[in-house]
Amino acid sequence: MRLSRSLVPTLKETPAEAQIVSHRLMLRAGLIRQTAAGIYAWLPAGFRVLQRITQIVREEQDAIGAQEMLMPTIQPAELWRESGRYEGYGKEMLRFRDRHDRELLYGPTNEEMVTDLFRQSVRSYRELPQIVYHIQWKFRDEVRPRFGVMRGREFLMKDAYSVDIDRDGAVLNYRKMMLAYMRTFRRMGLSAIPMAADTGPIGGDLSHEFIILAPTGESEVFYDAAFEEIDYSPAAFDATSAADLERFFHLMTSHYAATDEKHDPAQWEKIAPERRRQGRGIEVGHIFYFGTKYSASMGFSVAGPDGKPFHPEMGSYGIGVSRLVGAIIEASHDEAGIIWPDPVAPFRAAILNLKVGDPACDGLSERLYAALGASALYDDRDERPGVKFADADLLGHPWQIIVGPRGAASGKVELKRRASGEREELSPEAALARIGA
Ligand code: ATP
Ligand code: MG
Repeated sequence: MRLSRSLVPTLKETPAEAQIVSHRLMLRAGLIRQTAAGIYAWLPAGFRVLQRITQIVREEQDAIGAQEMLMPTIQPAELWRESGRYEGYGKEMLRFRDRHDRELLYGPTNEEMVTDLFRQSVRSYRELPQIVYHIQWKFRDEVRPRFGVMRGREFLMKDAYSVDIDRDGAVLNYRKMMLAYMRTFRRMGLSAIPMAADTGPIGGDLSHEFIILAPTGESEVFYDAAFEEIDYSPAAFDATSAADLERFFHLMTSHYAATDEKHDPAQWEKIAPERRRQGRGIEVGHIFYFGTKYSASMGFSVAGPDGKPFHPEMGSYGIGVSRLVGAIIEASHDEAGIIWPDPVAPFRAAILNLKVGDPACDGLSERLYAALGASALYDDRDERPGVKFADADLLGHPWQIIVGPRGAASGKVELKRRASGEREELSPEAALARIGA
């Protein structure tokens, strides 16, 4: 993208309405703009981050055999009356009527819809187990939307649903999903820790929240650093092996991890002090096993091996995709701006042309831009070098290629690594090779 022709409206001043660093930086870097309370437009650079996170989530879901689909945002009230959640869900649910006076709602989650879809199509235990997921906007009319995309009213969620013939199968899928989550978050540069949780309005008897540490988290959390050192890769755990999944789940539940409500100081004291990780936590995912809660209430049954009908066992698995954008910034920034982990950065590199109009600078910059293509943001604006440096640091590209008149005359550029601040003078070819283009 050429910055001179891009909707990347960076701000020098800190917006007064933003209380936490990720919200401030997302506004200042021109990633998002609020269009109504708790509702945001994703501008081009922000949307790129959202898409990269979405893609990582998708790849890890696909890797465990989950099927991607897309359910609508709008749902009929009727489905929620069947499960009994229509009244129970309360004011967080946005309800409205169409021109024929039919009651509709903007989906806050999809357990009812998934149960209905399976109920319509799956008749026999032979068609199970299955996992489906979609990555779709949700609406929850939060009392206090705040912290930008971290607690919005409209937000993007990956929600998956498993359908199994028995409890053992459901538990296996639950563990498989937990492994996929650990891989997903690690690929984004995050240490997310699974913590046993209450099941709340979803219901059920097995539930974990995935929490990352950041000073602005909404609850106090405690965990053993052992989680950060575990190898979650396919080499360490085969997600298709029940024995591996059991070993993995045992590991996840044998190290200490708790939110403040469940914290046990006696257990905590047993952990070596240097291994204690304590701080505020942000919830980036939440998984539930809820058995037959929806299949029973909504009359979803399939024929068993003996021909007798039974209610399948189900679970649901959420990741806060749009919240993750804020959470990653909370975990990775400095005074100058965002420091994107490479896998989620909107652009791999920025090309800073320090003297637009100078034939050597223009020529070299254009050459680099042609080589990098869509993975680069080319700062071709007629601006002072100071402005370009500040914006590149603010936007947090992993690499900056600085093309100045002195270097350009001798065919050299400067390459800066955002995370470490290291700078190096080298040829454009060597710079491209270094950033892996
Ligand atoms: P919370 O406890 O933060 O209100 P929740 O338990 O209601 O979240 P779930 O129903 O488990 O959330 O939704 C799955 C994921 O969606 C959460 O782990 C979180 O990352 C994300 N999420 C939930 N509510 C919001 C919101 N208002 N804005 C952004 N992301 C959200
Ligand atoms: Mg939750």
